[in-house]
Amino acid sequence: MWKRWMMFVCGLAFAGAAHALTLTPQEVAPGIYAFIGDMGMRTAGNEGMNANSGFIVTGAGVVVVDSGPTWNVAKEIHQAIQKVTRQPVKYVINTGGQDHRWLGNGYFKSIGAEIIAARPALADMQARGGMQLAELRKLLRKKAAGTKTVFPDRYFDREETLTLGGEDIRLLYFHGGHTPGDSVVWLHKAGVLFAGDLVFVDRILGMQPFSSSRDWLASFGDMEQLGPKTIIPGHGHVCDLAKAQRETRDYLLLLRTHMKQAVEQGQDIQSAINSLDQSAFKGLLNYDALKGFNASNTYLEVEQE
Ligand SMILES: [Zn+2]
Repeated sequence: MWKRWMMFVCGLAFAGAAHALTLTPQEVAPGIYAFIGDMGMRTAGNEGMNANSGFIVTGAGVVVVDSGPTWNVAKEIHQAIQKVTRQPVKYVINTGGQDHRWLGNGYFKSIGAEIIAARPALADMQARGGMQLAELRKLLRKKAAGTKTVFPDRYFDREETLTLGGEDIRLLYFHGGHTPGDSVVWLHKAGVLFAGDLVFVDRILGMQPFSSSRDWLASFGDMEQLGPKTIIPGHGHVCDLAKAQRETRDYLLLLRTHMKQAVEQGQDIQSAINSLDQSAFKGLLNYDALKGFNASNTYLEVEQE
């Protein structure tokens, strides 16, 4: 376990090129918007917003999906929403316990929104929130001012439907994956899925010490059953299911199948990493930075099974 944490810390140290944060909502279907965050690592330039979030405008208020990494970014999200609609933000959904999914909660709570997450996200937030905040403060300094670990107001176990202004907004928890609390937001009428950290496209996914390739693939299978037309991934551009399958599912399958076989054959971690050919995914951003990290964390996961 200690070794996995060390690799995690090393993974965090990598930082992509810095540039200024711009939050421009992209309308993916009527009333459904995505903010496409930076696809590199967290930097001072992107204010830690290296992930996507979004919002749904209904006739009776706005639902925000993921509050961003800081008070400041949450406020910028709100300002961008106010350029689209005068409806108030009624709910915020945190699709997981990764910093950029929930550390903006304090801002949205201050404007009266109710915050909801899947129950397994809470333990993750409690376990890692202090460390996430310390890392962001170190990186962002005064841009992290006002940010606190503000936990959701309430939780759902498997499923909840929010009905607001005639829209049915389904919150679904499958099995987690990238983090133990990953959930999705499903808009059946429009066929749009906010997939949170269960889908990474354009950039390579991260297998963290707390990730589970087994749970992630199981969640992916449940997500496929919904038959989404459009996916707002947790990271990368808006896509269809086929792209999510190629760039998330197929990569997870490669890691898991290879490492499972290596462990069964009694290979040590280094030879298992050396014999893994990941080059089919080398076109994805952050490939060089994460391929070794992903391989070793998957080996260590599979070894425990
Ligand atoms: Zn993420």
